[in-house]
Amino acid sequence: MEICRVDLKEETGNSYDIIIGAGLIGNLAIELKQKPVANAYAIITDSNVKRLYGETLLKNFQAKNLHAHLISFPAGEKSKSRDTKEKVENEMLNLGFGRDSCIIALGGGVVGDLAGFVAATYMRGIPCIQVPTTLLAMVDSSIGGKVAVDTMHAKNAIGAFHQPKKVIIDMNFLKTLPKKELANGLAEMIKHALISDRDFFHFLEKNIDKILNCDLETLEQAVKRSCEIKIHIVEEDEKEKGLRKLLNYGHTIGHAIESALKYKISHGQAISIGMSYAAKLSAKNGFLDEGSVIRQNNLLEYIGLPHKLSHRKLKPREILEHIQYDKKIINKKLNFVLLNSIGDAFVSDDVSMEDLKGILGE
Ligand code: ADP
Ligand code: ZN
Repeated sequence: MEICRVDLKEETGNSYDIIIGAGLIGNLAIELKQKPVANAYAIITDSNVKRLYGETLLKNFQAKNLHAHLISFPAGEKSKSRDTKEKVENEMLNLGFGRDSCIIALGGGVVGDLAGFVAATYMRGIPCIQVPTTLLAMVDSSIGGKVAVDTMHAKNAIGAFHQPKKVIIDMNFLKTLPKKELANGLAEMIKHALISDRDFFHFLEKNIDKILNCDLETLEQAVKRSCEIKIHIVEEDEKEKGLRKLLNYGHTIGHAIESALKYKISHGQAISIGMSYAAKLSAKNGFLDEGSVIRQNNLLEYIGLPHKLSHRKLKPREILEHIQYDKKIINKKLNFVLLNSIGDAFVSDDVSMEDLKGILGE
């Protein structure tokens, strides 16, 4: 078992631990019985995770005489809405959850973001324990305190900052995770390595077969390193003023592709394409060497992620339009994350729409 501490400078009282290990979830009820966080627990989850892990967790809580209820909603990004938030809140109100309650967010990024947002506003804010069950949620969305729901206008349009009480990463959840979901998480882990840790990139290259075969010990090391990188960035920049921008590597183009394709592409695939264009641009502008571009793309390709989108599927013009709309570009230059080398990223304010047009048109 590993413990990573998130020390927040702006809100020191809200610092918390991320605990990583195999089988941790089995101890949660015992732990809360010994050291209660609240008088009542709302375990919020989606329909898939409810069946796989939620019902067992509820039984564990009941066996320890903890006051708990399981609240679930249909799996999928569509549920990350104000409508679902209201339904969950109504259910909690009907069940009599008061200010002395705690939310256990058991699931992937959708559950973490939605349940975390419910916790942020329920009775003006109650504690939340994040229990991520997808690799993506483990290394990305459960850390940093950003919680939100989508609207018809934009993803994560309505939300808050609400730091969890703790994050419990149980590696055993990954045993049931579909390969496609594993690749989504891996894309973010590769991004973490690319922006700030050359050795970690090398570790991922060397151990990629074990990781793809779901070797939990190797995955645990990789998850821990990935969390440390995100924690470091979040600690330095809690409210997204500077350093956090590096986490957008591959995401400017990635997000544009996702929205242009109306989210009919996975996040991992979209940012993989975004990272390959960002690396190309880094090389073209004289920062990154060609060998590193190939290394990055080879690793992404090895885990089954694309580095190009056929122009038949999506025209460069359409991607550019979405970037322009998303970033509200006025003077034709945009902030864009580039690589100096593997493990060293920076924010360039010198990338023009013309540069992007050139890269996307190739
Ligand atoms: P993400 O974590 O990628 O943001 P979701 O929260 O939508 O996205 O989770 C992706 C899908 O994986 C959902 O259908 C969810 O029910 C399912 N899921 C989550 N955790 C597990 C798991 N440990 N095993 C199997 N399926 C899971
Ligand atoms: Zn992402």
